[in-house]
Amino acid sequence: MAPRLPLLLAVIAGLFLTPPAFALNVQRLEPEEIATLEALLTALEPALAAKKQDGSAILLTWEALYEPLSSEPRAFLDQFRALKAEGLGATSHYFGEAGAPSDIVPVGPQHTLKHGELTPLDPQYLPREVFDAYQRMMDAMHAALGKRLLVESGYRAPAYQLYLFLFYLPKHGHSVTETNRFVALPGYSEHGYPPRQAIDFINEEGINGEDHPEEFEALPEYQWLQQHAAEFGFFLSYPRGNATNTAFEPWHWHYESSDKQQATRSTPTP
Ligand SMILES: [Zn+2]
Repeated sequence: MAPRLPLLLAVIAGLFLTPPAFALNVQRLEPEEIATLEALLTALEPALAAKKQDGSAILLTWEALYEPLSSEPRAFLDQFRALKAEGLGATSHYFGEAGAPSDIVPVGPQHTLKHGELTPLDPQYLPREVFDAYQRMMDAMHAALGKRLLVESGYRAPAYQLYLFLFYLPKHGHSVTETNRFVALPGYSEHGYPPRQAIDFINEEGINGEDHPEEFEALPEYQWLQQHAAEFGFFLSYPRGNATNTAFEPWHWHYESSDKQQATRSTPTP
């Protein structure tokens, strides 16, 4: 039994010496946490502004997110990366995280045309296979309806997802639990998980349904998707009354490659 004693002591010491990985006040950040958050957002602002300008913000790497920060905000970021949505009273599903795939391709340039006004959409990216499937699907939709759907949101790097979460924290009273109801943590979004790559669609007149899902639901484009999207490997992630209790999102579809579908078709969509 003797050899186990040092190990046991090391484990006990570790319990006391290692700072808890989860020390944030998730209901509402403490004043010093808010100060660190503000310093962090200020430090990130120039780099993010430049990346938004050239359209690469959405592909943000972890290295680029940490690079402009000193040690204190880096440790603060680490705490957020360690957060688990399951501990925040959410029903979020953990998909996994993946950096931008090597075969990612830009979508567009894309524009909506509303009341005769041409509005550019922010640059978007999709993995090659998903982009090709999307194009095939839109060619078929166009042949049937004379309409296409545009990609309002495609791939979002996990580091960008975390940046968005931090950016929206002040707008939700610095409450992590409240922010989590509106912005997914890294790993909890199909947008950051290429094996189930999500697309948020917007129609050519700028109807995206985010504010008025019933408007998107009434579109002929949506009716067409319901009948034909599966033929192209696209599936509605959050139908009405879905098991995860996530709000109905008629605009949010994800792609599954055909070999993946055979493996997972029998399992219910999380
Ligand atoms: Zn979405």
